[in-house]
Amino acid sequence: MTAGDNQIPFLDLTGVNREVADEVRTGWDEIVRTARFVGGDAVTRFEAEWAQYCGTEYAVGVANGTDALHLVLRGLGIGPGDEVVVPANTFVATVEAIVLAGAVPRFADVDERTLLVTADTLKAAVTPATKALIPVHLYGQMPDLTAIATLADELGLMLVEDAAQAHGATWDGRRAGSFGRAACFSFYPGKNLGAFGDAGAVVTSDARLVELLLSMRDHGRAQNAVDGHFQHDVLGTNSRLDALQAVVLSAKLKRLDEWNASRRRLRAVYAERIDPAAATLVDELEGSAGSYHLAVVQVDDRDRVRADLAAEGIGTGIHYAAPCHLMAPYAEHASGELPVVEASAGRLLSLPMFPHLGTQDAERVADRLNAIVARTSR
Ligand SMILES: *Cc1c(COP(=O)(O)O)cnc(C)c1O
Repeated sequence: MTAGDNQIPFLDLTGVNREVADEVRTGWDEIVRTARFVGGDAVTRFEAEWAQYCGTEYAVGVANGTDALHLVLRGLGIGPGDEVVVPANTFVATVEAIVLAGAVPRFADVDERTLLVTADTLKAAVTPATKALIPVHLYGQMPDLTAIATLADELGLMLVEDAAQAHGATWDGRRAGSFGRAACFSFYPGKNLGAFGDAGAVVTSDARLVELLLSMRDHGRAQNAVDGHFQHDVLGTNSRLDALQAVVLSAKLKRLDEWNASRRRLRAVYAERIDPAAATLVDELEGSAGSYHLAVVQVDDRDRVRADLAAEGIGTGIHYAAPCHLMAPYAEHASGELPVVEASAGRLLSLPMFPHLGTQDAERVADRLNAIVARTSR
C-alpha cells in the first residue's frame, strides 16, 4: 500500500480554522481600524468568557502557558528555598516554570494505566520544603482532583493546575481550572483551544492574585494609581495577551464543546478498535471526562511501529520522548527512580487526533496499528 493521497496527518488545523475564518476577519478588521492591539475590549471580553467557562471568578490573559505557570508561582510567593511537586512526564514547560520562579522541582511518578499523578504519587515526593503541588491534566485528562485537593489541604500546600491540555475537561462534573488556587492554560495553536500564535491565561477566584498578575504581566506597573503609567511596584515582565489572539479565542470558544465531543467520539473509535494485545490506550478514570487533547497508546517496539505507520501515510507524535527529570537542565533535581514514567517513555505513541479527523480515518489508523504490531511481533 502506498501513502498517495491517503495521508492521515497527526494534526490538521485547517478544519477548525475554516470554521472561524469569517468571524476572525470581522473582528480583526475592527482591531486594525481602532489600533488597540494590546489589551482593550477584545481581551477583556475573552477573559470574562474564559472565566465563566471554567467556573472561576477571574481569568487573566498572558502571552503563553509557560508564563501563566511562572507568573502564578511568583504571584503565590513561591521562590528560592521552596519546592514544588510536579509529574516527571509532562511537557518541559511545567518544570521550566518552577525553575524560572527560583524554586526547585520535585518529581512525582504516575499511575501506569492513566499516566497521571495520584494523591499517593504526589505525596511520595513531598518534603518539608514543599510549598505547592502542580498536577498536570496530561493528554487532556484530569487526575483525581478530589483526592489531590484533599491532600493539598491536609498538608497545607497550594494547588496549581497545569490545564494546558485540558480546555473543557471535567473531574466529577467540574471543569479543569476550577479546583486549584489557580490554573494555567496555554492557547498554543495545537491545543484544544488554540490561538493563531502564542497565548495563555490564568484562571482563579483569588482577587489578590489577580491584582498581582495584572501588574506582573505588564512590567509590574501600578494598575490603579492616578499617575501609575510609569510606576512599577513589583518585578514583572512583558506577558500581555494581544487583541488579535483574543478575537480568535472568543470565536473558537463557541465551538470548543462541539470539537471536544468530536474528539471524544474519535477516542471511542480507538478504544473499540485497537486490539489490547497490540497496544494499550491510556485509560480513562471513572469520574473524568477529558478534552481528548491527545490519543496516546503504549506499544512495544515503538519506533519501528511509528516508522511503519509513517510509511503508510499515517502521522504520529511522541509525548514525551524524555521524562523531565532526565533532561540536562533538570537532572540535578532528580531524586531517585520513577519506575512508571521511565518504563513508559519509550513506549508512548500519539495517534492522529483533531476534531475534523474522519471516523473512517480513525478506524484505518486503529486497523493499521493492529496489523503492523502483529507483523512486527511475528
Ligand atoms: C503547552 C503546554 C505548556 C506550555 O504552554 P506554552 O503556551 O507553549 O508556553 C505547559 N504545560 C503543558 C502540559 C503543555 O502542554
